[in-house]
Amino acid sequence: MKVTLKNLTKIFPSRNKKQKADVIAVNDFNFEIPDGELIGLLGPSGCGKSTALNLLSGLLKPTSGRIYFGEDDVTDIPAEHRGVGLVFQNYALYPHLTVRQNITFPLENRKGKEKLSKEKMNEMAEEAAKLVQLENLLDRKPSELSGGQQQRVAIARALVKQPRILLLDEPLSNLDARLRLQTREEIRRIQRQTKVTTVFVTHDQEEAMSISDKIVVMKDGIIQQIDKPQSVYDDPVNLFVAKFLGTPPINCFDGCIKDGSLYIGEEKLFALSGVEDKEVTVAIRPEGFSLDEDDEKLFTCGLERIEVMGRDVSIVATHERCASSVIRAIVDADNLAFVNGSTVKFGLKRHKVFIFEKENGERIRF
Ligand code: ADP
Ligand code: MG
Repeated sequence: MKVTLKNLTKIFPSRNKKQKADVIAVNDFNFEIPDGELIGLLGPSGCGKSTALNLLSGLLKPTSGRIYFGEDDVTDIPAEHRGVGLVFQNYALYPHLTVRQNITFPLENRKGKEKLSKEKMNEMAEEAAKLVQLENLLDRKPSELSGGQQQRVAIARALVKQPRILLLDEPLSNLDARLRLQTREEIRRIQRQTKVTTVFVTHDQEEAMSISDKIVVMKDGIIQQIDKPQSVYDDPVNLFVAKFLGTPPINCFDGCIKDGSLYIGEEKLFALSGVEDKEVTVAIRPEGFSLDEDDEKLFTCGLERIEVMGRDVSIVATHERCASSVIRAIVDADNLAFVNGSTVKFGLKRHKVFIFEKENGERIRF
């Protein structure tokens, strides 16, 4: 089911007399989710992710704008008639019911023509349980399951109604690191198998990058960028997006453009064309530094320490123009022979270096 958001806006009026400003939690969202895709809504806490999701589910009414499922305008249709499956951070299972009863719960209240027989409900529950690989645990209570398994029950419960779209709000946040990884792969598999159009909300960039067909990066209720995860990483539109994606994070420096070349401090990094002279923020991805033998080494940093991580090596360095206390450069372990003493000279990969306006963080292309 294709989903379309048109000028979708949600304003929460200020309840506090002193704090006059209303909160624009979702500010003029316009995008289309193609049928069968998984879209990640990504941004820091408070940027409006849950609000956007709840507008899609029908739990919240928009201040303005429209929502379409396929060609149907569902904006005024209440949540229970939208055909959405919802999964939240806290699994919200009924503790006194078995897994089977939890999964069939949304089917129980159907009336009239829609009413299902006990056998049919059981069959549907078993099918949903199989999808999330819980078919052997149907008679357990939630307390007898791990967090990951409980979240899979919640997903099965959302899927049993065969929803038109599936909405997941930080579904992995309550799980420990290993289960989080496992369950996220599980969600991806289930989504691929069912082909249900899915919106996945998270503040965790790595999670969003690994699971999504496309990500929507948000800040203060405003969409910053929508694209495939790799495209957003490789081609961020502004400093906020560049900083929000990537571990270790991008390294930022005060720099300037002077006489057609890019500088950090006294060091000239490379020539640019078509950009006027000005102060800028220079941001370099950790993998943008290089120690290859035949690279021109032109960027000198203080060497703090070297952290070996198997195939790659993380060089922790310092620079007086760096916005944070340390720089992290990820280089090939084979090139470590070039590092000794208290400084390290790097080459730079030009396509891993971004330049941004000092005032507003907009990207300057060169
Ligand atoms: P996220 O899920 O990205 O953390 P939310 O969508 O929950 O963000 O919130 C976005 C903004 O809207 C926040 O500033 C939050 O305080 C505000 N907000 C959310 N729900 C309400 C509400 N019911 N009433 C007033 N303000 C709200
Ligand atoms: Mg939220």
